[in-house]
Amino acid sequence: MGQKYTYFFGGELTEGEKSMRSLLGGKGANLAEMCRIGLPIPPGFTVTTEACANYHQSKDQISIELEEQIIDSLNSLEKFRGARFGDPDNPLMLSVRSGAAISMPGMMDTVLNLGINDEVLEGIANKTGNRRFALDLYRRFIDMFGDVVMGVKHSFFDKELISIKNRKGVQHDQELDIEDLEELIQRYQRVYEKHVSQPFPKDPLKQLLLSVSAVFRSWNTARAVKYRQIHSITHLFGTAVNVQCMVFGNMGESSGTGVLFTRNPATGEDLLYGEYLINAQGEDVVAGIRTPEPIAKLEKQNPVIYKQILGITQHLESHFKDMQDVEFTIEEGELFILQTRTGKRSGEAALRIAVEMVENGLVDKAAAVSSLVSPDHLNQLLHPHFKDLSSYKDQILAIGLPASPGAAVGTIVFSAEAAENAAKEGKAVILLRIETSAEDVGGMHAAAGILTARGGMTSHAAVVARGWGKCCVAGCKELDIDYGKLRVQIGEEFFGEGDYLSLNGTTGEVVRGRQELEQPQLSGNFETFMSWVDPFRKIGVRGNADNGNDAQHALDFGAQGIGLCRTEHMFFEENRILLFQEMIIAATEEDRRLALSKLLPFQKADFLEIFRIMAGLPVTIRLLDPPLHEFLPHDLEEQKEVAKDLGVSLQRIHNRLETLIESNPMMGHRGCRLGIVYPEITEMQTKAILGAALELKREGVEVIPEIMIPLVGTLEEFRHQKNVVQKVANQLFEQEGESIHFLVGTMIEVPRAALMADELAKEAEFFSFGTNDLTQMTFGFSRDDATKFLPNYIEKGILPDDPFQTLDQEGVGKLLKIAKKKGRTSSPHLKLGICGEHGGDPASVEFCCRIGLDYLSCSPFRLPLARLAAAQAALKMGKEEV
Ligand code: ADP
Ligand code: MG
Ligand code: MG
Repeated sequence: MGQKYTYFFGGELTEGEKSMRSLLGGKGANLAEMCRIGLPIPPGFTVTTEACANYHQSKDQISIELEEQIIDSLNSLEKFRGARFGDPDNPLMLSVRSGAAISMPGMMDTVLNLGINDEVLEGIANKTGNRRFALDLYRRFIDMFGDVVMGVKHSFFDKELISIKNRKGVQHDQELDIEDLEELIQRYQRVYEKHVSQPFPKDPLKQLLLSVSAVFRSWNTARAVKYRQIHSITHLFGTAVNVQCMVFGNMGESSGTGVLFTRNPATGEDLLYGEYLINAQGEDVVAGIRTPEPIAKLEKQNPVIYKQILGITQHLESHFKDMQDVEFTIEEGELFILQTRTGKRSGEAALRIAVEMVENGLVDKAAAVSSLVSPDHLNQLLHPHFKDLSSYKDQILAIGLPASPGAAVGTIVFSAEAAENAAKEGKAVILLRIETSAEDVGGMHAAAGILTARGGMTSHAAVVARGWGKCCVAGCKELDIDYGKLRVQIGEEFFGEGDYLSLNGTTGEVVRGRQELEQPQLSGNFETFMSWVDPFRKIGVRGNADNGNDAQHALDFGAQGIGLCRTEHMFFEENRILLFQEMIIAATEEDRRLALSKLLPFQKADFLEIFRIMAGLPVTIRLLDPPLHEFLPHDLEEQKEVAKDLGVSLQRIHNRLETLIESNPMMGHRGCRLGIVYPEITEMQTKAILGAALELKREGVEVIPEIMIPLVGTLEEFRHQKNVVQKVANQLFEQEGESIHFLVGTMIEVPRAALMADELAKEAEFFSFGTNDLTQMTFGFSRDDATKFLPNYIEKGILPDDPFQTLDQEGVGKLLKIAKKKGRTSSPHLKLGICGEHGGDPASVEFCCRIGLDYLSCSPFRLPLARLAAAQAALKMGKEEV
């Protein structure tokens, strides 16, 4: 026997066949499953996704083999039902429904009422004694078959319907009488013949085979292909087709059709939520032809059916162990279920449902953690959001990149300084910049939201905003910002300081005016759920934090330490930046040391604060990383001011800038290259770190510092810096008569470091993968310029995702694996972590778990997400091992 292409779901599916989701599609598999557990499902059969693939391979032909199997299944169905397809005296009526393994908009619409023709029409009319009903089926069928299968637009049919309704002066379809429907059917057939140039097919088998082919073909429509591309669905090879006996919701007042969620998808409340229509068929409920009734009303209208629905939905939930989205039809007082699938829900609802399902014993904690809440759900909850997402759709001015989630509302300002001033007055502002740089950090922090015209998902604005959990829309090309006139043009409109804008950082929408905000509520459900997450997780989690505030946030969100503390951020604060600039301008080492000694107390104070918060937990501190020119202003007025404040000539500033400016700063004088040329910087930073640690040790606070040397590519670079650190440490410990245990390790962010990891591991006591730079340097894509071509790459399928957001597991991931293997060969217990943006991306988190890193580190606001993703990865890996 050849391939089996059709599977019956009349209740005879075996255990082994029940989980064949990829073969039967989601809809088909669930129909079979519902049948198996004894729910009232109209019987039918599923034509497999394999048959679809086969159809496309054989030049869009239904093979003889498949046709025979369809006819065989049809015969079984006829026997089972005691009715015959196309038999006027006792007609079997069918629906044809598409259904891939993943629910996928863009696939073919359903065709109902197959098997009707002029003779069958008469048969149904006689048998039911309801000619109006029979006519209603026929007119619906011609419309659906014409539109869905033969491509005759629904509007051509609708024009005829409207014209008859107008002539009669009625509004609803049900108000048409028998004569009207007879005429409508005549007109529909003429419309069909005119557009198809063939008479309407009267042979039911022909109707069926044409419908099945049309479903197969819909797999390759532009819409469906695009959808799969956008969602990186590459592992599926076709859609299944479900051929099912009709049940009729349009047989009068004791019939109807509806859709429901087993729980409220917005709040999670354990109450049926949905709508139904009496005397209606198929999509009438969602098509908006009549206004449907809320499901609660059914309890009064038909308590028997309502009770039955309640019983079935509970059965479905306990069987599928999740909230369900259900379609049902009532035929003359008899209930049928037509579909069930996992229901989509808000973050708030997801948490409530998970917690209540565990508490009611419906699922265990492992199941709740692995499938009832997604990292995206948590993400929604951790940020303020707009109260009513639908109300502002007509107010959207432009769409940029969804750089940092949440929502923000405020009046617009065009400079960091203006943002800081407004914040002092307690005003909420949106900071609008062409792009941001390190100088703007103060204003960015003060602003409620950040909007930039240039830059991608890992531009300065995006990275910094995500770090704080602040709303940011980046790279919004529609903005034309004029700093001189202090205004921005968006489309035809101009906005100036004082005008309100609203940002949705989750979608990238820039919205006119002042939309209503809702603050996140990390209710009891959040706490409860997160307490279940951690015991499953194997990888450690740390936060990226540059100051006490961030450190506290990280701790609150479950960090087990700090994985990346970027010391340069400390220098941008008021009254320090000038000292730092003094250090940069210094002509001699002596002057440089003098400036550094003034910075020391500030830096030490920062570490005191961070270490105190992180008592007993490791803190990884990265030594100075960015090129020095980033600390000098590029604008003439500001340069004049700096010159004045430092008591030097403007010329001096210019001269220094000239020597510092680089044509490719990301690959210029930065990272350990700074500490090698100016060891005194490393010395000062080491003194600050270990000095603070010693001071706290005397107070009884345990400090675990890990000093991290950035941008290392060779062993000698690392050795040089480690020696500087060690020398300072020895002097300090001797002087203070007390010592601290600390580690010196390196970031792995230059491909060479990964390739030479065995060498580096001889000296380095830990590795932390800096995957932002590592991605940049492995691809040779500049992070700041990649937005110019990355969207195009993704559209063309040249790259599946933005590698700066989702780790490129194949390439960059390979470097991680090499570095791990080589590193652990030299140093078997070498501690391994990741501190790039990828630490907060669920797919990348899974990868880190799989390759066996010790910890990941991400911005505090992504920690709950990362913890959940890590727990889910561990559960998944546990299952795979069995
Ligand atoms: P979708 O994937 O768009 O939800 P479905 O295949 O579920 O499409 O069909 C849409 C609607 O058509 C169903 O919700 C149901 O109301 C109706 N329908 C489908 N098959 C049948 C059937 N065998 N009997 C009665 N109604 C049906
Ligand atoms: Mg459906
Ligand atoms: Mg780096």
